[in-house]
Amino acid sequence: MTEQRRDRRDGRDAREGAGAVGEARRRSVRAEEAHAWGALVATARRTVSDGLVVGTSGNVSVRVGDTVLVTPSGVPYDRLTPTDAVGVDLDGRQVLGTLLPTSELPMHLAVYRSTDAHAVVHTHAVHATAVSTLVPELPSVHYMSGALGGPVRVAPYATYGTEELAENMLQALVDRSACLLQNHGTIAYGTSLDQAFDRTAQLEWMCRLWLTASSVPGLSPTLLTGEQVAEAGERLRGYGQG
Ligand SMILES: [Zn+2]
Repeated sequence: MTEQRRDRRDGRDAREGAGAVGEARRRSVRAEEAHAWGALVATARRTVSDGLVVGTSGNVSVRVGDTVLVTPSGVPYDRLTPTDAVGVDLDGRQVLGTLLPTSELPMHLAVYRSTDAHAVVHTHAVHATAVSTLVPELPSVHYMSGALGGPVRVAPYATYGTEELAENMLQALVDRSACLLQNHGTIAYGTSLDQAFDRTAQLEWMCRLWLTASSVPGLSPTLLTGEQVAEAGERLRGYGQG
């Protein structure tokens, strides 16, 4: 698998110098994919405008059938056009576009292979990343952690873009729709781009809340019990949100 991946990358690098070799395997963008790409770019831009991402330090993907549309590596989101759609299959083979998919592709694919996710958002949001360096799990300062499946875990550190990081992330995501990545950032998924985005924003907000509450000298925040968080989660699901 690793060798295959390396071969593919080498092939792609060679292609950059050699022109259009290999692009015959790419197909044209379907209408549903073009629509999803527009929504993906809008979501990616929102991560920047809402302060969750600086520059291109995050990435967004959305699943359409067995194709995963994903933000390309190193291209500012405001420069992405409708014709820039980048798509891969569930094994990571590029089927759409010529721009290089994000280097965090292994995490996105691992989520799609293991869950019913239709969208994934990854950021380096500042408060969430700060919390990831302090604790192995975000303390339950607010019942909204119930909307993410329970107390949010921190996946142990591994180098970005590796299968090891994707594996650590999957462990932290068991029965959860979001987790923190130690000394790195956040990842959240949902049944839509909006839901994955909202979960990311809620997670960043809860991390900011905990940092704020726990920074008062001489006091420490009251924490909710596991039962209290679980009960809130049930109610939130009952309202058709989550
Ligand atoms: Zn990252």
